[in-house]
Amino acid sequence: MKVLVAIKRVIDYAVPVRVRPDKAGVEALLPKLSMNPFCEIALEEAVRLKERGVAAEVVAVSVGPPHFQDTLRTALAMGADRAVHVPLTAEVVALQAAAAAGGGEGGAGAGGAAAAASSESPLQPLGVARVLAALAGREGAGLVLLGKQAIDDDCNQTGQMLAGLLGWPQATFASKLELELGGKGSGGGAAAAAAAARVTREVDGGLEVLSLPLPAVVTADLRLNTPRFVTLPAMMRAKKRPIESAPLESLGLSPADVAPALALLRVEEPPARAAGTRVGGVEELVRRLREEARVL
Ligand code: AMP
Repeated sequence: MKVLVAIKRVIDYAVPVRVRPDKAGVEALLPKLSMNPFCEIALEEAVRLKERGVAAEVVAVSVGPPHFQDTLRTALAMGADRAVHVPLTAEVVALQAAAAAGGGEGGAGAGGAAAAASSESPLQPLGVARVLAALAGREGAGLVLLGKQAIDDDCNQTGQMLAGLLGWPQATFASKLELELGGKGSGGGAAAAAAAARVTREVDGGLEVLSLPLPAVVTADLRLNTPRFVTLPAMMRAKKRPIESAPLESLGLSPADVAPALALLRVEEPPARAAGTRVGGVEELVRRLREEARVL
């Protein structure tokens, strides 16, 4: 069985993000970009499935500007067998910007905000999902793994939309993934064919366990696994490996198919927190909680 893993490149989670003064997005001069943490977890899970002999091939896929290839190299170093980059032509990028320029509050006054101004990828989730659906079909994937959300735009939509477009079952926020085997795979080499996925999800009241017939879409939550450390030799080897380029047209898609579905109005910093006060003792704390905060 082939496993497709969707990988997004985002601003590193440790970098403080600042909103642009014109409120049209976040500062573009950003020092460090890395693989979205939830995509890293999705990829680790796919590599483990391969190591267990359940997956025959792990294909990492990224849709975005040329520098997204750096993150695909990290994916190869982590254990992906192949990497596919879907580049965005100037026409696609212009379409996204044009649609967004009419959107900001006061029209183009919002600085001609990019459609996904907090994101390094100009495509919105529906556009990404359409690309992933085309790739899943082309590759004959039995399972598509994604992060539950990208930490830049916090959309939490791509996996759900992908499952809808493909008409496949989905399990979001997976904290455990087991594949139930159903005999020998045909195109899967030595790996056995999986018939269904058993997914555990952390929900408010406890754990929910689902069974999904394959092919299916699963999105990874934080506790699914701890991704492996990428070693320098693995990274050096990955630098020499090819990354396939799959332009939209080669997937049967046009720029209009990935055009933005919504416009960003503005991005704002959260309100500043009021300064704290020091209380003289427990009695004063209790009195103020009762009389001023009215929480007791
Ligand atoms: P989102 O719906 O934007 O929060 O993203 C959820 C997941 O969709 C991410 O963790 C990735 O697995 C996938 N994804 C989003 N954008 C891209 C992209 N440009 N290229 C590849 N995968 C993506």
